[in-house]
Amino acid sequence: MVEEKTAADMETIVSLCKRRGFIFQSSEIYGGIGGSWDYGPFGVELKRNIKNAWWRDVVHRRDDMVGSDTGILMHPRVWEASGHVESFTDPLVDCKSCRRRFRADQVQDSVCPECGGELTEPRLFNLMLKTFLGPVEDDASLTYLRPETAQGMFVNFPSILEASRKKLPFGIAQIGKAFRNEITPRNFTFRTREFEQMEIEYFVKPGTDEEWHQRWIQERLNWYLRYGLTRERLRLRQHEGDELAHYSKATSDIEYLFPFGWAELEGISNRTDYDLRQHSAYSGKDLTYFDEESSTHIYPYVIEPSGGVDRAALAFLVDAYHEERVLKRQRTVLRFHPELAPVKAAVFPLLRNRPELVALAKDIASELRMHMPVLYDDTASIGRLYRRQDEIGTPCCVTVDVETLEDRAVTIRDRDSMDQIRVPIAEVKDTLLERLGRG
Ligand code: ATP
Repeated sequence: MVEEKTAADMETIVSLCKRRGFIFQSSEIYGGIGGSWDYGPFGVELKRNIKNAWWRDVVHRRDDMVGSDTGILMHPRVWEASGHVESFTDPLVDCKSCRRRFRADQVQDSVCPECGGELTEPRLFNLMLKTFLGPVEDDASLTYLRPETAQGMFVNFPSILEASRKKLPFGIAQIGKAFRNEITPRNFTFRTREFEQMEIEYFVKPGTDEEWHQRWIQERLNWYLRYGLTRERLRLRQHEGDELAHYSKATSDIEYLFPFGWAELEGISNRTDYDLRQHSAYSGKDLTYFDEESSTHIYPYVIEPSGGVDRAALAFLVDAYHEERVLKRQRTVLRFHPELAPVKAAVFPLLRNRPELVALAKDIASELRMHMPVLYDDTASIGRLYRRQDEIGTPCCVTVDVETLEDRAVTIRDRDSMDQIRVPIAEVKDTLLERLGRG
């Protein structure tokens, strides 16, 4: 009998992430630093798998998309043209008693949520992190760590257009770090000061923008479903007029039901021709597209699906988390989609004091390693080894036992059903690839 509990609280997720090597607090030995997290051995694999799946689906599998990788540091005028210097602000309040600082939209009734003290009037606070280039820290050397990857794609629009020879509609994709001096980083990796974005700028003919906006909203929602997020924990939310960013004609968020409530996973905006026009005006360069049909130069409209890698990783972690009681024993299992699982298969010898079993298990592991990320482990009893792999979400475990020496077959155990089958060593690779959906 299996009894299930699926909704994890954040504390449980944070502690599993630390214990199993997914995510650690940055600079922990110095007491940590707010809004910055480090990914350990399994976390980095999860993140890479998410980015690879995204890149493959939005770039390699489409004829209308190309990739780019632009710098974190850009000319400071970029951020004037984009409107970030003037408008990328959050209203902020301070507590007069405990001196803590909050986003005005995240507190109620002008009372400090920490100590109940009185709050100041809201003041605007620019979210861009400043830095100085070169040896002198003056206004001439001031620039910013990019708060979004998008602008790199806008300012390169003419070069990418020329190099790729694409016709409208087409898009540019990019994955990279972005930085925001969030006033109240919180909820683990959900709101941090340094994070990674996966962004698409999709250029379309004006007039077709609303239709493309709807298509991308569906496309992106389906993407999260394809990799296993629960339908009931996902919803779309359209921004109200007063909530829209300075560049946006319409925005819909894909929200996920995190343990702390519904929150944005990805935003899909209709940025109109705002950015290309602004950069043309500020740089004096031509950022138009020559439309052969009408024989005129036009500014394309832009649809922007903009997601966070860290928020996606957190949602996939939360969604995968299951606690079960199986025959009166507790088990924690991360039911990751096989594509996202950090390790695809683990190989164990049933008895670690039998050198023949150890040697054979190591051989099988190194052969499999050529085809997928594999882990060899013999540091505990078999029950514990299975539990460890369940907790990092490994889809299959392969066990070499005494009989293997006779029948040249091993046991493959399935993470989700816990069913075990006996498979000849020669067929292990193909059986695993098939189970991982790569057969
Ligand atoms: P929020 O309202 O939560 O601050 P936002 O609307 O400012 O987010 P966007 O500017 O639309 O976010 O950024 C696109 C995506 O980048 C978000 O959907 C999110 O996944 C990610 N992102 C933005 N800010 C952060 C952050 N501080 N930490 C982690 N991810 C972030």
